Amino acid sequence: MTYIIAVDGPSGSGKSTISQIIAKKLNIEYLNTGLMYRAVTKYFLDNNLDEQTDDEILKRILEEISIDFKDNRLLLNGIDVTDKLRNDEVTANVSWVSARSYVREKMVDLQRKIAENTSFILDGRDIGSVVFPDAKYKFYLTASAITRAKRRFDQGESDMTIEEIEKAIIKRDNYDSNRKVAPLKIAEGAVVIDSSDLDINQTVDKILSYMEKDDVL
Ligand code: C5P
Repeated sequence: MTYIIAVDGPSGSGKSTISQIIAKKLNIEYLNTGLMYRAVTKYFLDNNLDEQTDDEILKRILEEISIDFKDNRLLLNGIDVTDKLRNDEVTANVSWVSARSYVREKMVDLQRKIAENTSFILDGRDIGSVVFPDAKYKFYLTASAITRAKRRFDQGESDMTIEEIEKAIIKRDNYDSNRKVAPLKIAEGAVVIDSSDLDINQTVDKILSYMEKDDVL
């Protein structure tokens, strides 16, 4: 029997690091759905499209995009762009892109196809609420904005100060939580974990402790 673990939460809550560790421990697959929205954003930006661009044009360009994964690397139209998806420009634009319903439809279809018939842990914003509402396990990982900003800063992928990152994180959280389609929220049945005072291993252990009684471990 295959099963799905959904890990949702705001940016910088540690979802991807923790999900990768759990995937290894449980010997299941991992999918970072944020990277997919970032890849679409990069493609739009590369084509000089912005928030003001007409939806019909965005839809047409979206059709040109194919996204695949190989060894947890994202291939955009066959090219590995993984290392180009976390910069400030993509990060500043990803929220308006991911708020478009037609972008979400394409990504959600793809996510369901990828995770079909295989045990997967997926991280994102709407995994437990929309993509896999029947997931066997659902977690909502959060932490204070300043903790999350420090973590992002330590990753060294931004040119901003901690204070600037914190502001940008709060802005993105607001945008993601208030959009009409699939907003960031705690999915029904999700276990909420605040990792502000937990390190990575403690957070992983906490998540696993909710699963230990089951046949998964
Ligand atoms: O997880 P990460 O911070 O890389 O996600 C980048 C952005 O992609 C989020 O701020 C959100 O706008 C969007 N996203 C989404 N739904 C997901 C995953 C990410 O809307 N399942």
